[in-house]
Amino acid sequence: MLNVIIFGKPGSGKGTQAAMIKDKYGLIHISTGDVFRKNTSEGTELGNLAKQYMSKGELVPDKITIAMLESEIKSFMPCNGFILDGFPRTILQAESLDKLLVNLNLKIDLVIALDVPNKNLINRLLERGKTSGRADDQSKEKINKRLEEYDNKTKPLIIFYENQKKFYSIDGVGSLTDINIRLVDIIDSKCND
Ligand code: ADP
Repeated sequence: MLNVIIFGKPGSGKGTQAAMIKDKYGLIHISTGDVFRKNTSEGTELGNLAKQYMSKGELVPDKITIAMLESEIKSFMPCNGFILDGFPRTILQAESLDKLLVNLNLKIDLVIALDVPNKNLINRLLERGKTSGRADDQSKEKINKRLEEYDNKTKPLIIFYENQKKFYSIDGVGSLTDINIRLVDIIDSKCND
């Protein structure tokens, strides 16, 4: 079992890299953003609720997000492991995840951050917005709000996972293949410890 969190600011490439890693290691990829967007497009109660926050670039409240993540994880058990993309994004989410995993006799093995400067992120997100149709990619204002949410609520997780000796950061600028190699190097070196 290998459980990895892929960490980073909005637009840092978490989803793309998670999809590549998932195939290589046979993991289940859970993207909280994708689950919320699927619910939004299907018009479920969860989707309608999440949309109110997502469209403004704000985080969805913890209680809703944690319940959703818990039911996702349980729905895929048993499996080879998970790659979590976009979760946790707050200390409460991280603490809840630890508790949930202890109950399932599991743990997080690694947290790998994709490090990308804000300037590149804003360009990437505005570019993605031209084709993604995502409301939160459509303006600098919404993108800045998401970066602000990251600084206030998500960045403290770096220390949380450094304290658990699980945190690694790699350069998230470069070709998809180069970044993938950096990620795989860390996963393989930790798996062979
Ligand atoms: P990005 O990483 O580019 O922000 P995501 O698809 O991961 O894209 O997230 C899009 C939005 O979904 C977030 O801005 C937030 O509103 C919501 N969301 C995703 N994951 C979480 C989470 N763990 N907690 C709260 N809100 C979340």
